[in-house]
Amino acid sequence: MNSGARRTTANSSPYSVLDPRGSRKWAANHLCASIYSIRRQAANLAKSMQRKTHAVLAALMVASALAALVLSWTALGRQFDTYAYDFFFRLEPPAPWQPQSIILALDEETLTKYGGLTGMRSALADGLEKIRPAQPAAVAIDFILPDASPSDGPLEAAFANTPNLVLSCDLLPNGRWEDPIERFRTHAVAVGEVHADLDKFDAISRDLPLEKAAGNDRRWTLALETFMAVNHAGVIESPDDLLVGTTRIPSADSTGRTLRIRFTPPSMNGIPPVSIAELDRHPELAARFAGKAVFAGVTAQTLSDRYSTPYTNGAIMPGIEFHANLYETIARRMFLTDAPLTWVFALSFILAAASGLAFLFTGGWPANLGAFLVLVASQAIPALAFSHGIVWEWMPGTFTAVIAIALAATWRHLIVRRQLTVAENEKTRYQRSMQFAIHELRTPLTAIQGSSELISRYGSMPEAKRKEMADLINAESKRLARMIETFLSVEKLSAGQMEMKQERFLLAEIVKRCAERAKPLAEAKNIAVHLEDLPAAQISGDRELMEYAVYNLLTNAIKYSPSGTQVTLFGEDNKNEVRLSVQDQGIGMDKKEVSRIFEKFYRTKRAEQSGEAGTGIGLSIVEQIVVQHGGSIHVESEPGKGSRFTLVLKRAYD
Ligand code: ADP
Repeated sequence: MNSGARRTTANSSPYSVLDPRGSRKWAANHLCASIYSIRRQAANLAKSMQRKTHAVLAALMVASALAALVLSWTALGRQFDTYAYDFFFRLEPPAPWQPQSIILALDEETLTKYGGLTGMRSALADGLEKIRPAQPAAVAIDFILPDASPSDGPLEAAFANTPNLVLSCDLLPNGRWEDPIERFRTHAVAVGEVHADLDKFDAISRDLPLEKAAGNDRRWTLALETFMAVNHAGVIESPDDLLVGTTRIPSADSTGRTLRIRFTPPSMNGIPPVSIAELDRHPELAARFAGKAVFAGVTAQTLSDRYSTPYTNGAIMPGIEFHANLYETIARRMFLTDAPLTWVFALSFILAAASGLAFLFTGGWPANLGAFLVLVASQAIPALAFSHGIVWEWMPGTFTAVIAIALAATWRHLIVRRQLTVAENEKTRYQRSMQFAIHELRTPLTAIQGSSELISRYGSMPEAKRKEMADLINAESKRLARMIETFLSVEKLSAGQMEMKQERFLLAEIVKRCAERAKPLAEAKNIAVHLEDLPAAQISGDRELMEYAVYNLLTNAIKYSPSGTQVTLFGEDNKNEVRLSVQDQGIGMDKKEVSRIFEKFYRTKRAEQSGEAGTGIGLSIVEQIVVQHGGSIHVESEPGKGSRFTLVLKRAYD
């Protein structure tokens, strides 16, 4: 009966008595260590995966900022930037002001009155005479006057009576200056060039070079010359700006001294024009020219050159008004300067970093909110800068925000998907381990239940039998308690709530015990187990876990060796280390297989074909245990010849 009960107990285990793994302790250790290992490995894997995925995210964010910057400097990017500039230009017009310039216009009515083109010089002469009493600050004439004509006398006289007269010149296609004739030139304080540059993509005027050169002959633009005349000052140049009187004009040499023009906003209705014909009818209008910089030129649509500005939206502005606008920009110091490139670069990288962080630390709505804020920032910063007279390139930030958010969101999506898969796999493994645990706990319980029932049912049981049963109950309940204790310990260990046991023990002792336990298995396969020189030094750590590791290596060596071979355990110790090797003459493994045997559930083809049962978990647990002890495990193997597993552990200090 007794032996029957024993058999029942033994057979209910997945391991037979003959199988050295039938040891209960092994089962308890196996179950706990496998749970421990699964958790531990999952945690380690998660950590290294996390490091890798963070690095991927960082690389993506840097790449998105760089890509955005490169894209922004393509022709397409530039064009978008120009449109953004026009948008901000219209969005944030300056407050209206009292213009410091005025236009003396040769309009249709004036031309009709003076007989068309030929009468233009007479008309101008009349106009200048009419405004002279008002004493304008300066008068700029937007005609080139390169040739003599019979009616030049009155115009020359008018010029002679006009203080601070500025005449015009233009750069001809042949690369030479077209200047006014000397007769007029002598009365001018300066000659300014009137060559206008239009945007090559959309022919809208946004800025103007303040200087133009034909060979060594360089001229300042008409508006700047007029400003100098009004201020009775010359220009002092530096690489970044021009200084006229006290006005510093930000216009770098590297940009060809280009200056953005702050055109009068639509609410001002332009620079006020007074036509010469109007002055004839209303001489009192001359008073409006007092102290102003006068820009005299043709406004008649048929004759004047005309420009589009960001405000005009298809409508056009006479050339003379264009020069007056440039004058206003300088005189009122309404300069629009470019944000330094370093700021633009920095913002791109900050936006990319913010996008990355939003999706790194959060998901769902918070991440979307973060992305939204990044987008808002990418738009608000150029707008805010523009309101302070700084033109902040719009494309780099916008492109960066869009690309970085798209990449970060995709990254997040992929990570979450992967995490889900990992979590599900982990859950499945954990559940499997739990089922195994429950099964193992039930086994001793069945033995205890069965034996106690027998005792109570057969009251007249011989004393020897009763003792045998009581001993069995005692042994099984102790084993149960040990299993529970080990299980809880490993659980605590894996949760970081418990330090691994730190006891000092001899590795040699463990080896001997394992050899004893493995004897039946070795004998069944006719394999000789030899213990040679074993390390004499102590190590410190968890004796049970270490025994599990050694036992696993030994039973593997026996399992994966043909009968008639031998397994040898040997080792050595030195000042710091203790080494233990388990060598067999078994099926062996190739390099590729060796590199994978510590992966959970991995088994070599050779092992599977050997007919030996196995789960592919043992070695992964062994590795965990060894690593936990601050040691390492090394494998040398050759297919068909055998394997040698070597544990290198820290020696316990005396
Ligand atoms: P199991 O033995 O349960 O399959 P292990 O994790 O202990 O799992 O071992 C993983 C695999 O490593 C084995 O399936 C086998 O392919 C290989 N292996 C381990 N030890 C040896 C050995 N001594 N000789 C040859 N192959 C081995």
